[in-house]
Amino acid sequence: MSYFDNIPVEFYVFCSAVFGAALGSFYHVCVVRIPEERSIVSPPSSCPVCGEAIPWYNNIPILSYFFLGAACPYCKTPIPARYVIFEALTAAAFMGVTARFGFSTATLVYLLFVSDLLIISGIDWDHQYIPDELNIPMSFIALGLGALAQYTGAFPLLMVQTFWDALIGLAVGGGLIWSIRAIGTMVFQQEAMGFGDVKLMAFLGGFLGWQEALLCIFLAALTGSAAGLGLKLTGKLEKYGKIPFGPYLALGAYLCLMFGPEFLNWYLEPFRGM
Ligand SMILES: [Zn+2]
Repeated sequence: MSYFDNIPVEFYVFCSAVFGAALGSFYHVCVVRIPEERSIVSPPSSCPVCGEAIPWYNNIPILSYFFLGAACPYCKTPIPARYVIFEALTAAAFMGVTARFGFSTATLVYLLFVSDLLIISGIDWDHQYIPDELNIPMSFIALGLGALAQYTGAFPLLMVQTFWDALIGLAVGGGLIWSIRAIGTMVFQQEAMGFGDVKLMAFLGGFLGWQEALLCIFLAALTGSAAGLGLKLTGKLEKYGKIPFGPYLALGAYLCLMFGPEFLNWYLEPFRGM
């Protein structure tokens, strides 16, 4: 029993929402600036139209958007809704992780994991590519965490508990997307998916383990095709051109993190003892 056990989990969930909204605001800056190879810390935020710097009291995540009536206070240019959507998404994603893993080392790890996924999804959504610096180091972090969990016991709630499980997850996730990509490229005579998706799925597998990696790819294919079909039916597919797969892999990974073990238990139950 430690002092922290007396604090209800709702308190941590609330804190993570505030923390998530503030970080979400910063992550959106990363989404915009990383592809332009601009610094993510300076200069501070300013209105892209009139160039007026945005003081802190007008830069409160989520709330300022509504206080300012969704427009720049100086030149009245409308602020795109994606700012507030991205902040709210980050806050919600953080709340989910904290509600599930409580006050633990796993929560810290998965908040980092989810943060990387949000920035990757934003950039892939805008530019149809995933920067290597957000992709490749994560595979090494997954392997390192597997080894730390195995030899120190400091991460008892992580979904992957050994170095080898991380490595197998990495190989299965990356290998499967690589194969789908190779077959797709052969059949359609054009690049079916970016190599960034292969590297992304490799580290997702390293964080989730191979079984959850399979579920993640399945969920990504399902939600991705649903979105594609929706765009086709509403005649918007031409406008968007290519649908990036990264955000759907990220969504699949998040669903696995939240519900994966329970889902696989339920799904595999009838096959036990056969
Ligand atoms: Zn302005």
